[in-house]
Amino acid sequence: MTNYETYHHDVLVIGSGGAGLRAAIEASAAGVSVAVVCRSLLGKAHTVMAEGGVAAALGNVDDRDNWKVHFTDTLRGGQYLNNERMAELHAKESPDRVRELEAWGAVFDRTDDGRILQRNFGGHKYPRLAHVGDRTGLEMIRTLQDYTIHLGVDIYQEFTIVSLLKEGEKIVGAFGYDREKGLFKVFHAKAVIIATGGMGRIYRISSNSWDCTGSGISLAYHAGAELIDMEFVQFHPTGMVWPPSVRGLLITEGVRGEGGVLRNNAGRRFMFDDVPESYRAQTSTDEEEGWRYTQGDKNAKRPPELLTRDHVARCIMREIKEGRGSPHGGVYLDIAWIKEKIPNATEHIRRKLPSMYHQFKELAGVDITKEAMEVGPTTHYIMGGVKVDADSQMTSTPGLFAAGECAAGLHGANRLGGNSLSDLLVFGKRAGEYAAAYAKKTPAGKINEQEVQEIATAALAPFERGSSAEGENPFQIQSKLQDRMQDLVGIVRTGKELEAAIEHIVQFKEKISHVACSGNRGYNPGWHTALELTHMITVAEAIARAALQRKESRGGHYREDFPEKSDAFGKVNIAIKKDDKGDMTVTQVTKPKMRDDLQQIVNEMK
Ligand code: FAD
Repeated sequence: MTNYETYHHDVLVIGSGGAGLRAAIEASAAGVSVAVVCRSLLGKAHTVMAEGGVAAALGNVDDRDNWKVHFTDTLRGGQYLNNERMAELHAKESPDRVRELEAWGAVFDRTDDGRILQRNFGGHKYPRLAHVGDRTGLEMIRTLQDYTIHLGVDIYQEFTIVSLLKEGEKIVGAFGYDREKGLFKVFHAKAVIIATGGMGRIYRISSNSWDCTGSGISLAYHAGAELIDMEFVQFHPTGMVWPPSVRGLLITEGVRGEGGVLRNNAGRRFMFDDVPESYRAQTSTDEEEGWRYTQGDKNAKRPPELLTRDHVARCIMREIKEGRGSPHGGVYLDIAWIKEKIPNATEHIRRKLPSMYHQFKELAGVDITKEAMEVGPTTHYIMGGVKVDADSQMTSTPGLFAAGECAAGLHGANRLGGNSLSDLLVFGKRAGEYAAAYAKKTPAGKINEQEVQEIATAALAPFERGSSAEGENPFQIQSKLQDRMQDLVGIVRTGKELEAAIEHIVQFKEKISHVACSGNRGYNPGWHTALELTHMITVAEAIARAALQRKESRGGHYREDFPEKSDAFGKVNIAIKKDDKGDMTVTQVTKPKMRDDLQQIVNEMK
């Protein structure tokens, strides 16, 4: 019989990123007892790395902006696979969420007349991203964290949740351990909010922090919740490619928003070569007009470097593949060229992009005020995740809610930059509000002691196998999984490669039942990785199976064997669920018809 400590709360929030903290604030304000559990330290969640800004149609820089334009930009970017109700709520509510953050103490950059400054970003028709230099996430987390603590929310840092606990169909708590001593913990909760972020670390090259393994998506899946849109992974066009130790680290789209341009090894601005039909009317045809757009000329159209991320990433891949890349397998991103255009360009770049300046100077020895950066695509974001009700954020499992990057629906086939920070504010708040309301009307459930013991025994099994010669090394499995995902389920996919990926994943699933670790339970990375592998492999399988099912190319999902969009697939989302035998089922779910008033807005904005 394994010992564990127990905790009781009405609402348990898993994750202390923007989504988790915003949810905790709202739930706590509703008067229920709230806890946040996170496996990093408070303030270290991945949101802190967000750079470019938070999208909200405040209209401070261009008063033609409003929620309807933001709504249609989001749908166009998502190639119309978005949940339109979520896109509507997001566009309508994000301005209030940003203003509220300001009222709570966030210090955004300012316009000359003292309003929140907004910058250009890919796919957004008008300058829309409220920002704090290129450290927006840091300021957001600082503000949300201060307020969460002020409200008296209980915080459990360096605790990892391994499994959710159910009574019948409904959620009644969660099982985890503290990383410091490796002791088991059982949380009793009437409602649980998953806010565990993304999954970039299941790929070899990623902009994400170590924490982003997709564990919340997997926790929800194993608790019976449905997943959707898992095939849509965003490969950000501009990650560092050199030196190898920092490959994948992000270079914010803000660089292009400030006038940075992409060139191949012949110095050609190749983004003018391929502009999608749906964006032609909004895109400049000459370099001069593109530059004027970045400097706030309301009559100019945006440069092709600010097309959506999926498209820019594929154009970069084309240049590299066809031999026009940079020495280390990327292309060039040049902001230094603006010296030709503005006085004090060096100072301007350092003020607008301080983190980028330091990142390149310290990590690559490159002064971005003088030289171009070498960049290439990096795994960045997952549009798919846990399926939620648009208004309440409740999943298909009663009592289980999800918000932020681990939840799906808002972004469809491709997310616009800046729409994640607004997503987590809008839907984090909603998740907190509805989880608190659910907890108030739901009696506390009963946790099954036998289930807890079984989970604990399984969690300790890698130690039991520690001395066995046949024991599998968790780091090796993780590393191979990352390679297979990078090579076979990456930016360009084929049916054959996806089938091969699934075969590998099935073998990895077999291997994790032999995974072994040694040492004691305190701060044991081998053990942590052994436990995390189940989640990483579950998420990898869901991505590969959904990608195999979608026989077309759209947004973040590109199939070389089906390079065109298909009308039929344009009407369906791919859903993933665990069946009664424990197998992963994949189905096509027809999207409901768009509400007439929303359809009318889309038609008017075309
Ligand atoms: P996170 O911030 O990732 O937080 C997840 C939390 O869950 C963490 O506290 C983690 O410890 C915890 N957790 C995870 N699993 C477990 C577990 N099993 N048990 C316990 N705790 C767990 N988006 C924008 O809109 N604008 C930007 O400018 C922008 N810039 C970005 C820059 C970079 C470099 C990157 C990589 C992304 C950027 N994004 C941006 C995307 C955006 O930052 C993320 O999508 C967003 O911050 C995710 O927030 P979240 O609250 O959902 O999750």
